[in-house]
Amino acid sequence: MEPLRSYLAGRWQRPDAAGTPLHDAATGQEVARISTSGLDPAAALAYGRESVGPALRELTFHQRAALLKTLASHLREHRHELYSLSARTGATKGDSKFDIDGGIGVLFSYSSKGRREMPDDTVYVDGATEPLSKQGTFLGQHIATPLRGVAVQINAFNFPVWGPLEKLAPAFVAGMPTLIKPAPQTAYLTHRLVELIVESGILPEGSVQLLCGDPGDLLDHLTEQDTLSFTGSAATARRLRAHDNVVRRGVRFNAEADSLNCSILGPDATPDSPEFELFVRELVTEMTVKAGQKCTAVRRAFVPAELADEVTEAVRRRLADIKVGDPSSGEVDMGALADPEQREEVRRSLKALLESCRLVHGDPNTPFELVDADYEQGAFVPPMLLRCDDPELPQPHEVEAFGPVSTIMPYRDAEHAVELARRGHGSLVGSVVSADPDFVRTVVTGAASQHGRMLVLNRHDSAESTGHGSPLPQLAHGGPGRAGGGEEMAGLRGVLHHMQRTAVQADPDTLTSLTRQWMPGSARETTAVHPFRKHLERLRVGDSVVGGPRTVTREDVRRFAEFTGDEFYAHTDEEAAAANPFFGGLVAHGYLVVSFAAGLFVAPESGPVLANYGLENLRFLTPTYPGDEITVTLTAKRITPRHNADYGEVRWDADVTNQDGESVAKYDVLTLVAKENPSE
Ligand code: NDP
Repeated sequence: MEPLRSYLAGRWQRPDAAGTPLHDAATGQEVARISTSGLDPAAALAYGRESVGPALRELTFHQRAALLKTLASHLREHRHELYSLSARTGATKGDSKFDIDGGIGVLFSYSSKGRREMPDDTVYVDGATEPLSKQGTFLGQHIATPLRGVAVQINAFNFPVWGPLEKLAPAFVAGMPTLIKPAPQTAYLTHRLVELIVESGILPEGSVQLLCGDPGDLLDHLTEQDTLSFTGSAATARRLRAHDNVVRRGVRFNAEADSLNCSILGPDATPDSPEFELFVRELVTEMTVKAGQKCTAVRRAFVPAELADEVTEAVRRRLADIKVGDPSSGEVDMGALADPEQREEVRRSLKALLESCRLVHGDPNTPFELVDADYEQGAFVPPMLLRCDDPELPQPHEVEAFGPVSTIMPYRDAEHAVELARRGHGSLVGSVVSADPDFVRTVVTGAASQHGRMLVLNRHDSAESTGHGSPLPQLAHGGPGRAGGGEEMAGLRGVLHHMQRTAVQADPDTLTSLTRQWMPGSARETTAVHPFRKHLERLRVGDSVVGGPRTVTREDVRRFAEFTGDEFYAHTDEEAAAANPFFGGLVAHGYLVVSFAAGLFVAPESGPVLANYGLENLRFLTPTYPGDEITVTLTAKRITPRHNADYGEVRWDADVTNQDGESVAKYDVLTLVAKENPSE
């Protein structure tokens, strides 16, 4: 069998050695061979930096995000092919969906976030403008620009599709090319994934490179503009973090390592409560999905001492129904471990755990009943449930058996549960299964600093809960300490991980031109044509209209109160309003001011402004008293065309002032504005 090719520097390259065989997890048959002999990782990095990065950075965030969506749809069309190959890694259909559909889902999610939460530009404006001077001539603004390197990812064997895609998506939206180094055991599936990506021609050439096999001296060639994202064992994470070149060049390093995640059943549970059932169900799911080879799986199950026996019995009963065997058989609930080495690793870890625990279900050392599979050929183990009645013993908090293995331990009270949860010394995720808000608060606040994510599961959210073990692109995936100390995804934060944040200090006009976002104090243009009469292409950042002045009368305030029903005393009761320490007399409703402002700035004729879809950052700064005169200045702040739509979004800065020039209200008005040429 030929070794897997790597895709480097714009072409598929075959190693010049026969390579190490990779085996089907269930049958032991050879699936592929792997080697990097004769390949040049340094050249691949240089190619990414010099030939791919510049082309990617020319695209806007929206253009990159749109490509990601096209790619996601393409991969979805080919997912069945990936499922069949995935079965050879030991994954059942359900496991494969978790990996493959999950990975494709991350692409869709980042595509949507890139288009909705980022500008159609190459510079990201990060946070609010910071006023740095009294006269407003000197401002500060954080911006983020893509790193000019390659996002190198070193992946674990357990998620050969989700792993590469969840790292690729934020890097690509940021504008960085990716180099994937898959774990050998399941590299043939990642290889097919990358073939599909390359063959599709959807992403710019070289956006994704693949190095199948030993990375050789790859890390020696990383620079401060590259990123290194690792998923795998804590031991390898330690080694990579301390790699001489990584340390010397200050390479941005992110690690997601195995951790001893916990799930805690609340004391409010009783054997017939929904939470008891949810806890048992979730624990069995976590033990058996991907045969427990999930970095987020529940390894430690804490239960109130008085319920320990009943929970153990209920879990055992469920596990007895789990059918293990050929992952491609529809009957099977749990497939095989990745390879015989992992089975040995699980046996070794189990032995260490048995120093303080007893096995209450499953034994990896004796052959057991399998569906359509041979115990001698595949890396099969049964689900194994342990019980440790002295949770103060160290092993269950330190030893991870990376397979279908969990330990049930009793706790005394909420504080004890927190203390035990924290003994994992840093976890990716912890769950609390309880409908008692006080218990949940104690546990979440007590254990959160040792966790990257916490799930509260109970009768109220179970129908829609995404579960303990599913990292989501919107949320942080990573944890402190033993979990690697890193963070992946978390929405836009994952994109920013591939960018440099720079604080720029400058005058308002310079900042406007740099960010293409109107900054307070920079030039405004009031033209003869009302900005609401301009189509998207004609509108410019800084285009303004001034409306007013208009006097706000006592009668206006009375009528507004009566019309809307907002008869709050500050607008209607002279005596009570006079006693109010902020107002000292009757004031106009803030919403009246905003409504009058809309009346002052609007161009009423039918035109390119299609809709007002919201206000943001509204602040009432100075009260408006009857008799005050208000004026509004509306300025186009950011213009964001939508691709494949005949309109775009325009954010306007609204500043309502009174006769003394004081701002009484400031906010952003959000509108949809039609394009003159919808095809653009
Ligand atoms: P490893 O940490 O050994 O390997 C993970 C990845 O790192 C692989 O791609 C591996 O490739 C690569 N790697 C290892 N050493 C180096 C190095 N010096 N330089 C560059 N790359 C390197 O984990 P395994 O996949 O072998 O699994 C071992 C254990 O890790 C499991 O039993 C489990 O406990 C844990 N694990 C944790 C996961 C998580 O999600 N956090 C996922 C999977 C496993 P290569 O082998 O080619 O060197």
